[in-house]
Amino acid sequence: MVALPVVPERAVDADGTWTDTKLVALRAELAADREALRQTITDAERVLVAIQGDGSGEGAGDDQVDAGTKTFEREHEMSLAQNSKDLLSQVERALGRIDDRTYGACESCGRPIAKARLQAFPRATLCVSCKQREERR
Ligand SMILES: [Zn+2]
Repeated sequence: MVALPVVPERAVDADGTWTDTKLVALRAELAADREALRQTITDAERVLVAIQGDGSGEGAGDDQVDAGTKTFEREHEMSLAQNSKDLLSQVERALGRIDDRTYGACESCGRPIAKARLQAFPRATLCVSCKQREERR
């Protein structure tokens, strides 16, 4: 990639396209998110295995408080792992879109996604109007 001078106030050009400098920084940020999410998923899955492997099955010798605590912990770790997997797939999509130079274009209508939206949600793949339409379905 050609090295460009760092001009932060022009990180996004007037026409909504992204400069290479900004993309390099964003890519690093997303790659760091990806590592953190993978770690979170690994940790959650390890805890789940520990909870499941602990004790000798449903109710055998557990008192109700322990069983309730385990159920709560299991549900918490499962939703944590699931949320992290969803985020991870969004991060990987965004990284792929940076690499194939389609980053910043709406996946649905192809128009540029507003830069303010991408700065707030770097993983966004839909423009605001397409996102709203999807949420109404
Ligand atoms: Zn759109």
